[in-house]
Amino acid sequence: MGKWAQVRCHCPNRIALPKSGLSDRPFARRRHLTAAQQREVEVWERDTKLMYECGHREGMLFQGWPGKILELCEAIRLVFIDEPDTFEICMRLGAWRSACSASMEETMTLSAEEAELWQLEAQELIASLELKGSVSFAKLRSLISVMWRFEIAAEMNVQRGLEQTWLGGYSSLALMKSGSEEFPDSNEKIVEICLLALEDINKFCAASIASGKPIEFYF
Ligand SMILES: [Zn+2]
Repeated sequence: MGKWAQVRCHCPNRIALPKSGLSDRPFARRRHLTAAQQREVEVWERDTKLMYECGHREGMLFQGWPGKILELCEAIRLVFIDEPDTFEICMRLGAWRSACSASMEETMTLSAEEAELWQLEAQELIASLELKGSVSFAKLRSLISVMWRFEIAAEMNVQRGLEQTWLGGYSSLALMKSGSEEFPDSNEKIVEICLLALEDINKFCAASIASGKPIEFYF
């Protein structure tokens, strides 16, 4: 899926380098390249391709696919629905589907201030998953269980040759019927997936806090 998230840099010289566009690749039309020409292409890819004067590729401090982050936030929204103030930003993001269809937009942004809050939420969750935080064991168990179902759904989609997609709610009939209802043996793997997503949240937040620029999501 074409989901994307990014934080722009705030450098004064945030200007694309000349000849840095994808269509500016040297020798693009040649089928055979000499070793020297090959090197020239490699240097262009490393130093010039999509590069900005300030040294940030595409003028971005941080960017990437936010699929796992969104999945985790959706799970958090389901698990903490009775405590809407606990992980406010996670839950808002977890509702991206309905928010987008309500506003007819396919983007969401978090301000740098919201990123600061979001980072605190991520840190709280990381500490809790490492059993050093304040989230109850019961809630953690639910979170892992929901994430486990999401992961099964994603795997099923991969097997079917579909792109990784959202289930839209963990109580999906197909999933409940197909998956074993035993609690996953693969707890550790799911915790690992959660922790990786939380580390990604941390990186987006750190970039936003550093630049004062929002985190932009494109769905
Ligand atoms: Zn920059």
